[in-house]
Amino acid sequence: MPYRAPVAEFTFLLRHVVGFDRVSAQPAYAEATDETVAALLSEAGRICDEVLAPLNRQGDLHPARLENGVVRTSPGYAAGYRAMADAGMTAIAADPAYGGLGLPQTVAACINDMAGGACLALEMNPLMTQGQIEALSHHGSDAIKALYLPKLISGAWCGTMNLTEPQAGSDVGALATKAVARGDGTYAVTGQKIYISWGDTDFAANVVHLVLARLPDAPGGSKGISLFLVPKLIPDETGAPGVANSLKVVSLEHKLGLHGSPTCVMQYDGATGWLIGEENRGLAAMFTMMNNARLGVALHGVSIAEAATQAAAAYAAGRKQGQPLVGGTGMIVDHADVRRMLMEMRAETFAARALAFDLAVSIDLGHAGDAVQAARAAVLTPIAKSYGTEMGIKVANMGIQVHGGMGFIEDTGVAQFARDVRVAAIYEGTNGIQAMDLVGRKMADGGAAIHALIDAMESEAMGDPMGAPVAAMAGQLRVATDAMVGMELNDRFGGAVPYLMGFARVLGAIYHLRAAQSGAARRMALARFYIDRLLPEAAGLFAQAGHGAKGLYDLSAEDLCA
Ligand SMILES: Cc1cc2nc3c(=O)[nH]c(=O)nc-3n(C[C@H](O)[C@H](O)[C@H](O)COP(=O)(O)OP(=O)(O)OC[C@H]3O[C@@H](n4cnc5c(N)ncnc54)[C@H](O)[C@@H]3O)c2cc1C
Repeated sequence: MPYRAPVAEFTFLLRHVVGFDRVSAQPAYAEATDETVAALLSEAGRICDEVLAPLNRQGDLHPARLENGVVRTSPGYAAGYRAMADAGMTAIAADPAYGGLGLPQTVAACINDMAGGACLALEMNPLMTQGQIEALSHHGSDAIKALYLPKLISGAWCGTMNLTEPQAGSDVGALATKAVARGDGTYAVTGQKIYISWGDTDFAANVVHLVLARLPDAPGGSKGISLFLVPKLIPDETGAPGVANSLKVVSLEHKLGLHGSPTCVMQYDGATGWLIGEENRGLAAMFTMMNNARLGVALHGVSIAEAATQAAAAYAAGRKQGQPLVGGTGMIVDHADVRRMLMEMRAETFAARALAFDLAVSIDLGHAGDAVQAARAAVLTPIAKSYGTEMGIKVANMGIQVHGGMGFIEDTGVAQFARDVRVAAIYEGTNGIQAMDLVGRKMADGGAAIHALIDAMESEAMGDPMGAPVAAMAGQLRVATDAMVGMELNDRFGGAVPYLMGFARVLGAIYHLRAAQSGAARRMALARFYIDRLLPEAAGLFAQAGHGAKGLYDLSAEDLCA
């Protein structure tokens, strides 16, 4: 069965689960009326179903390739990208002063979700550009904004983010790329960046790179990093792409998945760049882009979970094998174990999507000036990124299982889901690093913002007829949080991942409770499933987290790696 954008599910979540009406009530988002959002989602859904989804397999079978230094994209990708850009899908949240629609991030999240489900490798491209637009909007000079934003927002030009170097992956502070002031307002940028998504394309007139580099007298580590805008073609005095800059794509990586997304090794040889933001404050500016991208990557997990669930459900409804003991279809969908898998896939996909949209709502309210919501968004970001991507991986794997042997055969396309989504747990900060952020920086206030979230969840659950086990688990989360706050940092890091996943389980249960309040039998059944079978995992996860780093060093590094 081909992918279908779940537009009705988005509308349900916005109305009944994440309280999008609080966003559309803000004067800044007055344009985001129910009618406008419904019309946008419906048209974007059509493009996803009809234009993007058929490209997904094309990208997998015919990866992007490097030809005489230029990236040639997979068949049909140029037309798919143009369809997205023409429909405004690439810059939903961008500033109308520069041609954007000025709609909330929550609406952009819905569009990115469906575009990722249709063709993740292609959706990566506008996701990078969206992050760049946001970084330039906040940190670019008026001249840079006037020149670059209209082109990026219209989709005429694309944007990339260049952090990673061979010796500087998770530790961005170790980067060695240099930038030297030329005295004319520009800088000469020299160095090599690796793993750069969409480092080049044949469907945009220009590619604009945001590059982290170090000035000659910069302090060491992450305090000495500056951000530079380095275009592939230097705009001439009319703003049109002019002479080629001193940069090139050296090679493309051969990857497990996401074959349609060119992952480039980039070489900068004294390339002309412009400083974005202040000297040595580049990481702060880049974080604007990375936080946006973290929500986007959470949605990579969600979107693949959706696509995998749709494919598995369709297969299970039509595959006859054995005689189920109950149920009337005679198909594998009525085997109890297949039901367990499909219920789990649906329940996890729902919870991960609700968490991502909830984060988007808090980001929007934070942008509108609500400091409490901004603090809430900061806490939710690492949880949404990790849980969303882990669920994408898990659900894609379950989708293979539902298909039996056919899941392992590439023709069904479900193996591609598992290959494509695997990297989402790695890029935009590995999930381990996300969990460390949650128990480190996000607990720097002594756990105050997290406590506020737990209190709200507990009282919400206590007021719900199905909520008693959820309230009890929120209480266990509070105990686990207090234990974390009291630990040495390395103990926190040792327990960070199970703590984060347990936290996500409680959040997921809250979203299911809200959905069940709609009274729809389907929503209530999924909520019961999640609360009875998945929420209890949180107790085990909190127990693991409580051990901190204890036992992790009982083997010497030599023994462990022998
Ligand atoms: C397909 C793809 C696309 C990408 N796109 C981009 C892009 O567009 N732009 C860009 O700049 N980068 C991009 N990246 C790079 C990506 O962000 C990095 O791969 C990621 O940050 C991890 O860095 P690393 O690969 O060096 O792994 P490492 O940092 O070497 O990590 C290896 C392992 O060690 C763990 N680890 C590392 N440090 C710590 C620590 N302090 N504490 C605990 N655990 C730690 C990690 O969690 C991981 O499990 C991309 C990567 C891929 C594969």
